Amino acid sequence: MTNFAQTKEQFHLPKDIIYLDGNSLGPLPLAACSRVQDTMQNEWGELLIRGWNEASWFSQPISVGDRLARLIGAETGSVVVGDTLSIKIFQALGAALAMKPDRHVILSDRGNFPTDLYMAEGLIQSLDRGLQLHTPAPEAVEASIDESVAVLMLTEVDYRTGRRHDMKKLTAKAHAHGVITIWDLAHSAGALPLALSEAKADFACGCTYKYINGGPGAPAFMYVAPRHADNAEPILAGWQGHAEPFDFDLNYTAHAGAARMRVGTPPVLQMASLEAALDIWEQVDMHDVREQSIVLSERFIKSVERQCNQLKLASPRDPMQRGSQVSFHFEHGYQAIQALISRGVIGDFRAPDIMRFGLTPLYITEADVDAAADHIATVINERLWDNPEFMRKGTVT
Ligand SMILES: *Cc1c(COP(=O)(O)O)cnc(C)c1O
Repeated sequence: MTNFAQTKEQFHLPKDIIYLDGNSLGPLPLAACSRVQDTMQNEWGELLIRGWNEASWFSQPISVGDRLARLIGAETGSVVVGDTLSIKIFQALGAALAMKPDRHVILSDRGNFPTDLYMAEGLIQSLDRGLQLHTPAPEAVEASIDESVAVLMLTEVDYRTGRRHDMKKLTAKAHAHGVITIWDLAHSAGALPLALSEAKADFACGCTYKYINGGPGAPAFMYVAPRHADNAEPILAGWQGHAEPFDFDLNYTAHAGAARMRVGTPPVLQMASLEAALDIWEQVDMHDVREQSIVLSERFIKSVERQCNQLKLASPRDPMQRGSQVSFHFEHGYQAIQALISRGVIGDFRAPDIMRFGLTPLYITEADVDAAADHIATVINERLWDNPEFMRKGTVT
């Protein structure tokens, strides 16, 4: 059994704050401070350039990838870490499209995160081979899979509502029609038990600064199924994905396996904070996380709905259809979130009217959820959101 009291102790959580935004940026693992400081002083400071060999910086994209592989049910050697999620989506899509030269449709859904769709649009323009992006409603995706589709590119858990696609079922249907799959795990990794290998996913990508708690700007990860890894074309072929980077060969030869998806120099300091976060994940069973996430989210929904009828649940009511977040529609959601933040309850807002709360068992307790629901009821029932101070929009919502 995972000891969640023990995991909670390993995070810095500011006093008098209930943090329900770990789905956007996870909190600071206490050990990350000393880990980053150690990397700065003893590795960068003392080793200088020797750190690439002596502190194994160069192999981190693979060694850290192997630690993530355990969390997402992937084979050792199949996960590479680096760059940002947007870039990894671009690479995965480029590789997947190259595997289906005779097909012309990229199938996604209109609930997908904009950057994923922008990456697809950019590739469509630059490849200029008559590709089209289809974005039906999420519920209509399954029926849209047919022999015209080259790639099915979906985000498993919807960033706004928390609605979850059935990865295994959709992947199986895609394969039955000869379609390559790309799963964006931004709101799945560290939130749900994942079994990429068992689901027979082709490619998957995710970020490590959300549920994984790797810190702001922590690098993305990319999974390439071993059956594709030695043939996948890394559309952004960088020197660190070359078979022999230090030969400085002017002709590109891809590295064996998923390592070919490396592009350039990895962010060593961010890797240090990510490694500290992964030390906590070593103590955790993802099935326990899922079970407790459902306990927290059911309790939260029940308490909010009991106390205020102005919020309408935007997430699926069936917990099996949700990720690890709960969202509500509310016309004045932006102001309401600002009012909650002023009271120490941090969630976030997604246009047009979604109040979003991440429920993360590693550091959120049932008492936190009860207190947060009470604050929400007070803010809504007493119209505390109706204050010009809460109208001002920051750059980041
Ligand atoms: C958070 C998120 C991203 C962010 O991409 P970055 O390149 O890391 O900024 C992309 N896709 C989805 C689905 C996300 O939720």
